[in-house]
Amino acid sequence: MTDFTYDLDADGVAVITWDTPGRSMNVMSMAGFAELERLIDRALGDGAVKGVVLTSGKKDFAGGMDLNVLAQMQAGGTQAVFDGIMETHRFLRKIERAGMDPKTLKGGKPVVCAMPGTGLGIGFEIPLACHRIIAADNPKAKIGLPEILVGIFPGAGGTTRLIRKMGVMLAAPFLMEGKLLSPRLAKAEGLIDEVVPADQLLARAKEWVLTAKEADLVKPWDQKGYKLPGGAPYHPAGFQTFVGANAMILGKTQGCYPAAQALLQAAYEGTMVPFDTALRVEARAFTGVLMDPTSSAMIRSLFINKEALEKGARRPDLPDESVKVLGVIGAGMMGAGIAYVAANAGISVVLIDATQEAAEKGRAHAEALLEKGVQRRKVTPEKKAEVLARITATTDYAALAPCDLVVEAVFEDPSVKAEVTAKVEAATGAILATNTSTLPISGLAKASQRPGSYIGIHFFSPVDKMALVEIIRGKQTEDRAVAKALDFVRALRKTPIVVNDARFFYANRCIIPYINEGLRMVAEGVPPALIENAAKLLGMPLGPLQLVDETSIDLGVKIATATRAAMGDTYPDTAVDQVLFPMAEQGRLGRKAKAGFYAYDEAGKRLDLWEGLSDLWPVTQTPDLTTVQDRLLMIQALEAVRALDAGVLTDIREGDVGAILGWGFAPWSGGPFSWLDRIGAGQAVAICDGLAELGPRFSAPQSLRDMAASSAAFYPRPDVHPRAA
Ligand code: NAD
Repeated sequence: MTDFTYDLDADGVAVITWDTPGRSMNVMSMAGFAELERLIDRALGDGAVKGVVLTSGKKDFAGGMDLNVLAQMQAGGTQAVFDGIMETHRFLRKIERAGMDPKTLKGGKPVVCAMPGTGLGIGFEIPLACHRIIAADNPKAKIGLPEILVGIFPGAGGTTRLIRKMGVMLAAPFLMEGKLLSPRLAKAEGLIDEVVPADQLLARAKEWVLTAKEADLVKPWDQKGYKLPGGAPYHPAGFQTFVGANAMILGKTQGCYPAAQALLQAAYEGTMVPFDTALRVEARAFTGVLMDPTSSAMIRSLFINKEALEKGARRPDLPDESVKVLGVIGAGMMGAGIAYVAANAGISVVLIDATQEAAEKGRAHAEALLEKGVQRRKVTPEKKAEVLARITATTDYAALAPCDLVVEAVFEDPSVKAEVTAKVEAATGAILATNTSTLPISGLAKASQRPGSYIGIHFFSPVDKMALVEIIRGKQTEDRAVAKALDFVRALRKTPIVVNDARFFYANRCIIPYINEGLRMVAEGVPPALIENAAKLLGMPLGPLQLVDETSIDLGVKIATATRAAMGDTYPDTAVDQVLFPMAEQGRLGRKAKAGFYAYDEAGKRLDLWEGLSDLWPVTQTPDLTTVQDRLLMIQALEAVRALDAGVLTDIREGDVGAILGWGFAPWSGGPFSWLDRIGAGQAVAICDGLAELGPRFSAPQSLRDMAASSAAFYPRPDVHPRAA
């Protein structure tokens, strides 16, 4: 099996076509690099070849490096990683020099990259080493370098080449934020050279090869007198760029992401040395990042395991259950969002609410989102009409007859849900899912005549933005319902986790203690700014007080009231309520009321922490930062372990991926289980013991103590015993 084919045409143009067997998208492997190099050598060494077109046999160019390969490289150790990267540099530099004399810069053969569609990561770093990049006018294609999003940075020359091509300032959004562009925009911003109609791609690439002059093959940085666009670091303009970029990166990452800092270091040092030295600098910085536990944890959770879950790692082995017609009951915030994402994925939707007006309002929500897309030129007016036409808004349950899945998103009230369950089951034999965020599924299933076909599909708000969907198996839920839910989530291109039934399931079970720990500290007289900043410095996207403002304080009161009613005397959160309830009584309900733990302006923009907090809860102590951070992170991680111990979670991969996508658990850590592995169970237990006087919520579970005693870890590692697969 080969990844590349070689074809020499009558005009002397060698066409090398990338077509990774058995995959819908080309990905680069070590063997792939070796094969490509053999073909490039063949073309450069053959006198009959005038030049090379590198293209793809698939609709896209390439999705990037196979990150499993990076994971293997990491296992080989630092020197092996560095040597491997330098090999890649040597090879891409060979393409760039294409046989030319290094002194006269003459005698090279043109190499053009013809991209039919998406080119990401190494799938754009290889084109950057070619002499010209021509892309098909494919509006669905995305071009760029998204490495930073999985905790690494472009390390196959992409950093060095893009900076030398565009300057630090213009390259920054692509390198530091992983910004991707369509071919047309990529051309407009100078990432690629040409965009042509798809059916002319190959012909145009060949034409360029046959007409290119020797000067066209010499990259600006190989020319005499080359100056970095926008100025090098000791140029007045360049100096300002680096000062700004440094501040921006630290502001955005809070120092939690080594990749961002290493990228900046490679950029800064690389711009002051010759090109080939800059590649060495890039390789060194990249090696450092690849050997940092942050990148391996992020790659494992955010790429390898996330993809495995999306591809059905937890799916029962049953025939396809793709959803054809979806019913949604309740066209409020969640129901309307679910209808929109389903219609967008090509599924017909029957959207029901108690009144026609409410149902129409839900459909209008989809229309508004689509219109926003039209305004931003991301959606065509035709596509908008097509998607909207898939949503039927009605009050008539008979319209549910053709549905194979119905999701209810009515009020969070068991009696309303029971009434709706009966009506749905009378109208259709579809699998019925509830979007409840707190109520145990097995309890709600009591209202069902077919509890085997009853399941939880918990979307997060806002539905169109949040990638995670929690699928909850009730006690009687059958495998077919799980398969249906997973196939539905797959069609929506979201990431599923499958958990067992318990109050709050997994995500809310862990996020509520995080919020509560923040509120407890307010009650204890800890400065609110310390609480919020400690969370931010941990890489949490929102501090606990901001988070409760966003989700609304009255929702917190509602959940607390219901939990107290369910738990009676064993209710553990009275201290939390002493903060939550007074805020609600004062009408400080959070962002939606423009008043909460934070102050807001008239337009709803968040300002500083509310000054009145210190009157209600005067500051009486200032614990050190680490203690506050230990409390905030450990309380979440412990709850994740308890969810695993209780069998709510059955797979630590889901625990980690779900934590990052569901509530933003410090992504640099790879998730709570990865974080516990990183510090080690022994250290985790020591932290818990140090916090034990705060209450039993910090007592380390026996399972963690056992792991500490036997030096075990959650994930398999060569030197420790795995606790779970
Ligand atoms: P919402 O109040 O915005 O919408 C509920 C909708 O259900 C309303 O349009 C209402 O008219 C309709 N409805 C009520 N009773 C009905 C009935 N008998 N028949 C038909 N329609 C009826 O609420 P929401 O925020 O969209 O929440 C809906 C569900 O999703 C709840 O179970 C909630 O717990 C859950 N949920 C909410 C969030 C969130 O952040 N809001 C997140 C995840 C899950």
